[in-house]
Amino acid sequence: ATPLNQEELQALLEQLAKEAPRCFGEGRVASYIPALAEVEPDQFGIAVCHADGRVQCAGAASTPFSIQSISKVHALVLAMQRLTPEEIWSRVGREPSGQAFNSIVQLEVENGIPRNPFINAGALMVSDMLTSRLVMPQHTLREQVRRLAATPTIDFDERVARSEMDHKARNAALAYLMQAYGNIHSDVELVLDTYFHYCALAMNCVELAKSFAFLANRGVNPNDGTRVFSEIHTRQMNALLLTCGLYDAAGDFAWRVGLPGKSGVGGGIVAILPRRMSICVWSPRLDSYGNSIAGRHALEGLVSGLRFTPMG
Ligand code: GLU
Repeated sequence: ATPLNQEELQALLEQLAKEAPRCFGEGRVASYIPALAEVEPDQFGIAVCHADGRVQCAGAASTPFSIQSISKVHALVLAMQRLTPEEIWSRVGREPSGQAFNSIVQLEVENGIPRNPFINAGALMVSDMLTSRLVMPQHTLREQVRRLAATPTIDFDERVARSEMDHKARNAALAYLMQAYGNIHSDVELVLDTYFHYCALAMNCVELAKSFAFLANRGVNPNDGTRVFSEIHTRQMNALLLTCGLYDAAGDFAWRVGLPGKSGVGGGIVAILPRRMSICVWSPRLDSYGNSIAGRHALEGLVSGLRFTPMG
């Protein structure tokens, strides 16, 4: 099928934004920290960044929100750029967890090696790798995200970072358990601080879509022409996003949407249509897995409307 032209795609995005309020009766905003519990629930934004860098959007696409777990992808990109495959994959797996994003049970059975880098334990592990390698791991990630999105104003929401630290018990338990297995090399409190700052990046749909565009463009960031990833790394990251990007709802997301993606408890979901576009949707009400309800719905609508998916 021929791809939609610019006007057709714009009409589709507007229609999805118009339909999103139908989902506003369901789900709840994340409430594990006060800073997120206060977010106005009935909001929706959508943005796509084409593989050539053009952006189209609808709804509240320039309202910043807490990107939360979506930053786990940016952090893994930094690690894959700087560490050898052996250095990374000897300490974290690449299999779907089938457990909640913040689950601790598998860690004990599997000797402190998290299932994948997109659950909290795995992201804490990646944060440890970056904390022991980089002089300023927070600064470096922020610079990376600013460059990827070609937006120099992107920053942490310090209130969210502090709120995470004030309610750190569960993530701290994950990190200390991994330390007990000898699988955390830096100071645990520093690792937590790094991880919480990554989660606390505030970005909008347009910025997030732009920051993922290199994954839809064989590793080259269309916003500034620089190569971020080799083609092999790009393929590997998209594969990992398809199998592990939506916690224990990854199978259902693949069934409904069929694209590599990553969600966060701030209500954002990023998805990649390889060689075509990156997409970001945002709506704060979450299902029981921690994924945005209106966001997932809109992605299903987008994929049907595009008349093209990698799955057939
Ligand atoms: N800050 C959240 C946590 O550590 C991130 C979880 C998420 O977005 O999935 O619990």
